[in-house]
Amino acid sequence: MPPPTPPADTSTAFAARQAKALLVHERLCAEYGAPFRFFSTKDPLSELVSALLSHRTKNADSHRAYQELTATFPTWAAVRDAPTEAVQHAIRACTWPEQKAPRIQAVLREISQRCGTDAPCSLDFLAEMPVPEARAWLESISGVGPKTSAATLLFSTLRIPAMPVDSHHHRVAQRLGLIGPKVGEGPAHKLLEALLPPGWDAQQVYDHHEALMFHGQKCCYFSSPACGRCVVLDQCPFGQARMGGQA
Ligand code: SF4
Repeated sequence: MPPPTPPADTSTAFAARQAKALLVHERLCAEYGAPFRFFSTKDPLSELVSALLSHRTKNADSHRAYQELTATFPTWAAVRDAPTEAVQHAIRACTWPEQKAPRIQAVLREISQRCGTDAPCSLDFLAEMPVPEARAWLESISGVGPKTSAATLLFSTLRIPAMPVDSHHHRVAQRLGLIGPKVGEGPAHKLLEALLPPGWDAQQVYDHHEALMFHGQKCCYFSSPACGRCVVLDQCPFGQARMGGQA
C-alpha cells in the first residue's frame, strides 16, 4: 500500500513560517522606525470610501479624488443620491472613475438599506463585533474585498486589528516564502494574518503591514530588488537565489 500523502502544510512548516514572520517583523520594524503613526483619522464610512478610491491608484491621486469628492458633496447621502456622472467627475483624479463612481454609490445604497436609515450609517457598530465578523459584514457588500475591509477597520478611527495586504506587502511576503508563489493578493490576507500572534493589537498589526510595505517601497523593488543591503536576506530564498547563495 502506498504511504499516505502528507498534508500540504504540516504544522512544522506552519510554525517555521510563523517564526519567520515574527523575525522579519522585528528586523523591518527596527529598520524603518516602528511604531508607525496612523496616517488617517477618518471615521470608518469615510475610510471605506477612501479605500474604494485608492484601488490601483497612487496615494496622491486618490487623496485628490477624495478631497474633491468631499468638497463637492456635503454628506455621503448626497454622494449616494447624486447623478453618477457628477460623482465620476469629482473623483476623476483616481484610476477608473467610471467604474468607481457607480460602485461607491452602490456600496452607500447597500449600507443605507442594511442599516434601515435614510443616510448611510456610521459603521461605528463594527467595533462591537469580533474581527472576523466585522470583516465578513463588510466583505458581503458587493465590491468590497479583503484589502478594503481591512483598511476600513484598521486605518479608520475604529483601529481594529485587521491586516490589509497591498501589492508591496504581498510581493515581500511571497519572496520571503511566507506565502506560496501562486497565492494572489486576496487569498494572502487570511494566510498572512494567520501567521501573526492572535493577541496582537491594532498598533502591532499596523506596524507589521507598514514595515513590509515600506520594505517593498524602499528595498524589495518590483524589478531589481536591492538584496545586497536587505536586512532579511538570510531569511529570503528568492534573494539568496538572486545573490548566488552569498547570504
Ligand atoms: S532579499 Fe531581496 S528579494 Fe528578499 S526580501 Fe530582501 S530585497 Fe526582497
